Amino acid sequence: MASESDPAPSNFIRSMIEKQAASTVATRFPPEPNGYLHLGHAKSICLNFGIAQDFNGWTNLRFDDTNPDKESEEFMTAIKRDVEWLGFQWKSLCYASDYFDDLYSCAVALIKSGDAYVDSLSAEEIREYRGSLKEPGKESPYRNRSAEQSLELLEEMKSGKHNEGDHIVRLKIDMASSNMNMRDPAIYRIKKTHHYRTGDKWSIYPLYDYTHCLSDAIEGITHSLCTLEFEDHRPLYEWVIEKVKASSVAVELGSPVQTEFGPLNLEYTVLSKRKLIELVQKGLVSGWDDPRMPTISGLRRRGFTPDSIREFCRRIGVTKSSAVIEISVLETVIREELNESAERRMAVLEPLKVVITSLADDHNEILQFANHPNKPELGSRQLPFTREVYIEQSDFEEDPPPKFKRLVPGGEVRLRSSYVIRCDEVIKDENGKITELHCTHDPDTLGKKPEGRKVKGVIHWVPAGHSVKSEVRVYDRLFNQPNPLAEDNYLDAINSDSLVVMEDAQLEPALASSAVGSSYQFERQGYFAVDEDSTAERPVCNRIVSLRDTWS
Ligand code: ATP
Ligand code: MG
Repeated sequence: MASESDPAPSNFIRSMIEKQAASTVATRFPPEPNGYLHLGHAKSICLNFGIAQDFNGWTNLRFDDTNPDKESEEFMTAIKRDVEWLGFQWKSLCYASDYFDDLYSCAVALIKSGDAYVDSLSAEEIREYRGSLKEPGKESPYRNRSAEQSLELLEEMKSGKHNEGDHIVRLKIDMASSNMNMRDPAIYRIKKTHHYRTGDKWSIYPLYDYTHCLSDAIEGITHSLCTLEFEDHRPLYEWVIEKVKASSVAVELGSPVQTEFGPLNLEYTVLSKRKLIELVQKGLVSGWDDPRMPTISGLRRRGFTPDSIREFCRRIGVTKSSAVIEISVLETVIREELNESAERRMAVLEPLKVVITSLADDHNEILQFANHPNKPELGSRQLPFTREVYIEQSDFEEDPPPKFKRLVPGGEVRLRSSYVIRCDEVIKDENGKITELHCTHDPDTLGKKPEGRKVKGVIHWVPAGHSVKSEVRVYDRLFNQPNPLAEDNYLDAINSDSLVVMEDAQLEPALASSAVGSSYQFERQGYFAVDEDSTAERPVCNRIVSLRDTWS
């Protein structure tokens, strides 16, 4: 695990900033509050906050809240929680909606300077006039209407006099530009939606591109870091800021410089809010925080730690190009961390009762177990060894395959840190289903090798009567294809075995009343976290990750 003092690995953005020797490094993380944050956002958060920290700068958290149809308070609350949970502190909490008055003044100034106009074509006509990548666009007949006329219409749009779609405000740039973003992009539209922050004040809302670049400039952001798909938007952003600065408007603007980096793509999942919303809305997962989701809230519930996610972001690095990261990188960071930090426990996920007939009914022998094999400072715990214990159904085979090293009829196995037992009798019900095993123990094998024979298998167990009945949720990858988006419909690639619920798991008594969120290694099984669905009587545990990579 990397420690706090590990330097962040260099990348092209850091090198660029070092060369600039800039006096201020001001960044922002600018989510649109229309969903929960996912691992791609974590990459952007670690980059933006990490760079500002290392160059003695600051970072704003800014909600780009320009589309009240899709945005909500719930999403903002979740986003703030996730950024803080990842361990980052913003300088100011900002909202694009705080700049609506300024943005409106800028639009008025751009109309006055002849750099914007109100267009009255229909949405369909605007699409037709836009041209294509091969064909230049056509100028709207309204493009050259007078500034006075445009201003009058804008005022009417603002006061709610017109209907949605009747008019829009567009920049007057170049309908023949090879960059489609420069073909007179819209900057305002009529939308009569209540906004959770500005209420019913506005019946027009500024569009994303226009809002985003001006918000950066208003906040004095120096380095606008964003993903590659915005590369083609950069000329537009620069154009807007330059024109507004040249206008008469009294809005103070800094000079943000945009640098694009490759977005995170991760195997066996999808990182797109639109797709994640679909999974939630169609009930394919239990919610945004379903432990299979690549969201920060899902990973937190699964049992990932802030350290492990930051370490993941450190390992994947930041480059100019887009790459697909193997899911094993994510699984490895948490496995490595928990191998160091998680206390060991025993849990039987699919119990099979074993009666040790050589023990008295009330046998209750206290055995001592180390909490961690190589960290004595983590102490130890006690476990009673009793006449009845549970073992894993899969640790017994009546007709064992070759090389099966666990319990078989007439065979021996060691109960972890306890005695060697021998299976004398297999008890079945009328349907032939095994209900219990009758075994005898060798009293001379506690902490000692058995006399005159080899016993290879060691299996985990819990004492029946002292164990805690629990639900264990064994999670696996949400998709069974490395690139679900390569399918005709990515939903076809959903892994139907991504959740297997063990209703009758039995945990060792030390796991009773474990705190929600605490993590353990269940010996031979993997790493598990206590879920918030736990009750005092019935803990619920989520599998975070298996002990080894079982896919590759
Ligand atoms: P999505 O595509 O999932 O809807 P988005 O880009 O629309 O995400 P925003 O709320 O606009 O979501 O994103 C906030 C910031 O996070 C942006 O600066 C964006 O570039 C960054 N970001 C989003 N997805 C990724 C990703 N996969 N890798 C790195 N950064 C990302
Ligand atoms: Mg976006």
